[in-house]
Amino acid sequence: MEEKGIISRITESVSSAGGAIKNAVGVAREMQSMVTDYQVKEKTTELLDKLLDVQQQQFGLSDLLNSSKEKIIQLEDEKKQYENWESESEYYELFQPMPGTIVYRIKPSDEPNHIAIYLCASCYQKRKKSIIQFSAMATVAGRAVVMKCHDCNALYQFPIHVLKGENQ
Ligand SMILES: [Zn+2]
Repeated sequence: MEEKGIISRITESVSSAGGAIKNAVGVAREMQSMVTDYQVKEKTTELLDKLLDVQQQQFGLSDLLNSSKEKIIQLEDEKKQYENWESESEYYELFQPMPGTIVYRIKPSDEPNHIAIYLCASCYQKRKKSIIQFSAMATVAGRAVVMKCHDCNALYQFPIHVLKGENQ
């Protein structure tokens, strides 16, 4: 993928630029220790200082490039999750088990092992798949229950007959 190419190119150029500057600093240090002429020594010291300054700036650039690299990886990840969600959401549909309760459910199927799964509508809007679970009996005792999303704490009333798989 193109992004993978960019990431390895960033890694390579960060390390080769770092290496080149380190070598230049090394040569300047050697020269500084070798020369005896005062004026040349002074200029060599100046050169070394400037190279160390370049090296310092290069460290800053490396940090910046490394953060960009992490950001690219993170965005790639989000993109993948987004695409996964697009294909996964095809299995779900809006469902109203009783007036006032709207959730998403896995599309009914004839498979014998089909499990009715209900998803929290508000988490669903945030592209999050959160299965709602039984929480308590509702006040209309014996006829409805309260289902809860354990992710966002949303509550949903459900008629018992729907949970039992009747009249879906
Ligand atoms: Zn939720």
